[in-house]
Amino acid sequence: MGCISFVHLNFWYTIGKTFLPQLTWRRKVDEKVVYLTFDDGPHPAITPWVMTELEKVGAKATFFAVGDNAVKYPEVVTAINTRNHQLGNHTQHHIKGWQVLKEEYLHDIALCDKTIAGSKLFRPPYGQINFKSIALLSLDYEIIMWDILTKDYLPGLNTNRAQKRIQKATRPGSIIVFHDSEKAEKNLKILLPEYLQFLKSEGYLMKLL
Ligand SMILES: [Zn+2]
Repeated sequence: MGCISFVHLNFWYTIGKTFLPQLTWRRKVDEKVVYLTFDDGPHPAITPWVMTELEKVGAKATFFAVGDNAVKYPEVVTAINTRNHQLGNHTQHHIKGWQVLKEEYLHDIALCDKTIAGSKLFRPPYGQINFKSIALLSLDYEIIMWDILTKDYLPGLNTNRAQKRIQKATRPGSIIVFHDSEKAEKNLKILLPEYLQFLKSEGYLMKLL
């Protein structure tokens, strides 16, 4: 059993919580609550579908929006707000934090901040962020990582196995990453409804970060 559990450990979570404890990997909570997050939208069809699924079980979620997409689909941004979900900053152009200068990175985040009209939550695309950026960003944002990556973006994902893996990894305070993107759509539509039912049957609340 020990070995099986070890396989299920999320690499980034394990490394990250050790070396980058100033980022949020899982919330410390005293109630049975998890935090569902959706990256890379908004998308005109997929994001509304996600919200409808969430609302069937009374769940709230955080949408880490790419500014470019928010510019294209302002009505979806509005819907996220009016349906009482929450927006987070995922940069304007979905750039990689290890491949650009700190100044460029911070500028891109500022652009997204303007586009989505302010959020105190930031998630770095690809989980890539450098130390200098962390120090500066931490002043204005809570940097939200995750302890559960669904890997819904993988074309060949075994969704049965993924469902078991994410359910097994779920605990109070967990932060779960899905993607409201075309790349993830097929897997998302298989994984999300069943996972929401699991959370509901286990008595988890699904709240805003
Ligand atoms: Zn992303």
